[in-house]
Amino acid sequence: MLVVSGPSGAGKSKLVEALRARVPGLGFSVSATTRPPRPGEREGVDYFFLGESEFTDRVARGDFLEWATVYGHRYGTLNQQVDETLRQGKDIVLDIDTRGAENVRRLRPEAVTIFVLPPSPSELRRRLEVRGTDSRDTIEGRLAAAGHEIAAADGYQYLVINDDFSEALSILQAIIIAEKARCFRQQDKLRGFQKQGGFEGFR
Ligand code: 5GP
Repeated sequence: MLVVSGPSGAGKSKLVEALRARVPGLGFSVSATTRPPRPGEREGVDYFFLGESEFTDRVARGDFLEWATVYGHRYGTLNQQVDETLRQGKDIVLDIDTRGAENVRRLRPEAVTIFVLPPSPSELRRRLEVRGTDSRDTIEGRLAAAGHEIAAADGYQYLVINDDFSEALSILQAIIIAEKARCFRQQDKLRGFQKQGGFEGFR
């Protein structure tokens, strides 16, 4: 499980999308949200767009691995999305805020956590403005929240500066490759090798 966080406008969604195009079989956790869809966003692809009462019902039913209020709307990771993908033997990326990530870290300590940062505060503002999908108030709200988000970066395992997009993408891919090579994630292969025996001559 890969948890990616960072301030709004850091370029997380684009990076994750490009990462999925590069890494075959990498699953993505489609979150549920009460935020209205932006132009071009698709139900069940970008988010599951829920009404307030539907979201509340699903919280009560225990459908969420975690959920949080971010920039005035509720967002949550659906257990079903995560469990189903992991059951298929795939890795899964969660694009969630820092509070959500904190909860996931507690529940799934094996999760790999990555914080994506833009190269500078002025570039962050510029990216939010050129996106052109949010109102002035929304942009100011997101910038105000950025400081709080960035303060949580220290608790993550990796920091990726999204200055040059393709370089940031390569770093994300390298993290996946290195994490998959860690001994504790390859215990079955190691044990399988050892079970074949034939080491007597090397002792
Ligand atoms: P946006 O509205 O720009 O799509 O997302 C706003 C913020 O909500 C982003 O920082 C994103 O990472 C976060 N977010 C999206 N889905 C979830 C989720 O399921 N849980 C939590 N905690 N945060 C989420």
